[in-house]
Amino acid sequence: MELEPIRNSVPASVSLVVPVYHSETSLRPLVERLTAVLQKRPAEFEIILVNDGSPDRSWSLIECLARGDPRVRGISLMRNFGQHNAVLCGIRAARHDVIVTMDADLQHPPEEITSLLAKLEEGYDVAYGVPAEVKHSLFRRLASQMMRFIFQRTLGIANASQISAFRAFRTQLRNAFAEFQGPFVSVDVLLTWGTMRFTSVLVRHDTRVHGRSSYSLTKLLAYCFDVITGFSTLPLRLASWIGFFFTIFGIGVLVYVVGRYLIHGYSVSGFPFLASIIAIFSGAQLFALGIIGEYISRMHFRLMDRPTYAVRQTTEHGVKEVEKR
Ligand code: UDP
Ligand code: MG
Repeated sequence: MELEPIRNSVPASVSLVVPVYHSETSLRPLVERLTAVLQKRPAEFEIILVNDGSPDRSWSLIECLARGDPRVRGISLMRNFGQHNAVLCGIRAARHDVIVTMDADLQHPPEEITSLLAKLEEGYDVAYGVPAEVKHSLFRRLASQMMRFIFQRTLGIANASQISAFRAFRTQLRNAFAEFQGPFVSVDVLLTWGTMRFTSVLVRHDTRVHGRSSYSLTKLLAYCFDVITGFSTLPLRLASWIGFFFTIFGIGVLVYVVGRYLIHGYSVSGFPFLASIIAIFSGAQLFALGIIGEYISRMHFRLMDRPTYAVRQTTEHGVKEVEKR
């Protein structure tokens, strides 16, 4: 469903949020290109670099960049929490009207930010920058495609095919998930808690200049699984349906066995039949139990109050401070 956009053409101030992991080589050119683009606009801006426990020298570089320009702010997390957790930390620290999130590896061209902002000015709440052509490996593209499909099916996000990590949205949307806590985060799901006004623009997608993607197939699959079980109850419903299906199947088998006995006077031969029936039913039961177990473990983690992220230090205070969220 697409709502009629409201026109609102005051130039908005922008908070850039960039999760940083293993990106020491691309940080300086990124900040330079971002500053060049944003300086042309009449409104204020800030660049928030969230260091997600990078093992390289990313943090000292962020500190250096922040010293050189007060519009650059750095936040360093206690350890590696994951891209979405780091982005959420940056979103909560933002001070301006609009938040733009993008990758640190220069795959999202800073020059395209203006077209995302133009969409917000048309009245949309969230604008995704969708790559016209994705410069990823085949398997990475397949995995992303699968993830979009899952998003669409399990979470009912209508234009899930246009989801990307390059997004611009109104800062006020964060009020919808201000109370959100827990170790598993999907920024895209959180945004749907606050609005339905999504749109997308085609943008360029550059090849990674240095290093390689920090997402392996297993990491992506784990993320898909987290999103499905963390934000929807579809698997529980699936377990119920499987249970229901096998109940009907069981009744059918009973009717068959009794019917054969009544009509032919003898039943189905014993062991192989029984063994296969038991195998099917115990398989279905274990599957359903596994799903229920997954939800119980999520509740368990929630009860433990495992944080979404914990901040080690920021460039504002200079001193070490530990903040849990
Ligand atoms: N990232 C992060 N924490 C992680 C992995 C990645 O903050 O554990 C950041 C990374 O610095 C980059 C973005 O998430 O800004 C996307 O990562 P990457 O380029 O490795 O993934 P891909 O381009 O394949 O989506
Ligand atoms: Mg990348």
